[in-house]
Amino acid sequence: MAPPDDIQQAVGQARQILRGAERVTVLTGAGISTDSGIPDYRGPQGTWTKDPKAERTATLSHYLRDSEVRREAWQNRLNSPAWTAQPNPGHKALAELERQGRLVAIATQNIDELHQQAGNSPGKVIELHGTMRRVRCWDCGEEGAMEAALERVRAGDLDPFCVRCGGVLKSATISFGQALDPEVMAKAEAAALACDVLLAVGSSLGVYPAAGLVPLAKNAGAALIIVNAQPTPYDADADALLHASISEVLPQII
Ligand code: ZN
Repeated sequence: MAPPDDIQQAVGQARQILRGAERVTVLTGAGISTDSGIPDYRGPQGTWTKDPKAERTATLSHYLRDSEVRREAWQNRLNSPAWTAQPNPGHKALAELERQGRLVAIATQNIDELHQQAGNSPGKVIELHGTMRRVRCWDCGEEGAMEAALERVRAGDLDPFCVRCGGVLKSATISFGQALDPEVMAKAEAAALACDVLLAVGSSLGVYPAAGLVPLAKNAGAALIIVNAQPTPYDADADALLHASISEVLPQII
């Protein structure tokens, strides 16, 4: 983290850039939800840092062929801290940005729906990696509520299958080895091209294609503000760079 004086200076720069902005697109990653008690994946306290074996539950090929991996995944879903998590001041600041009428969209790598809970309208939230609150059948595409599937797991069905076709049921999220929905990605790219400021929050900007939204917006002439605890590969391109606490800094700059 930068010394406090440097952070205050960067906060001032970010405020100035945002003050003149009429169309803001936001890219968010796991870092905005850690202050709500949802651990990131690869940070010092990350889910996969602490338990590298857990990563295979998020890998499509393992998930589809191995019942044991699916049982582990369902138990992880059952015990996820996300079910009781509440939006933090960082999420609420982004909801305020929408109320001000200046938000193009939030493209998020998160699957926790905390942006919607904070007050952003669903139509403004582009879920690049899907949502953990829905399930989808890998075989027939049937969708349903995650809660209904978790109820079956609680009742003893440890690897629940699709009630319509008997296919493999999975959270409606993007696993490793699974392509992003092209329509969702196209919406995010359009939002990156339509903004005069791109605000990247809590993302390591190392996972593509999501991270590709940053050079896309920048090359189209948008100013770039990065807020993240750790350095990112795009720090040198930022017009304002804040290595600081997201839930403290976002309310200050918006
Ligand atoms: Zn099915």
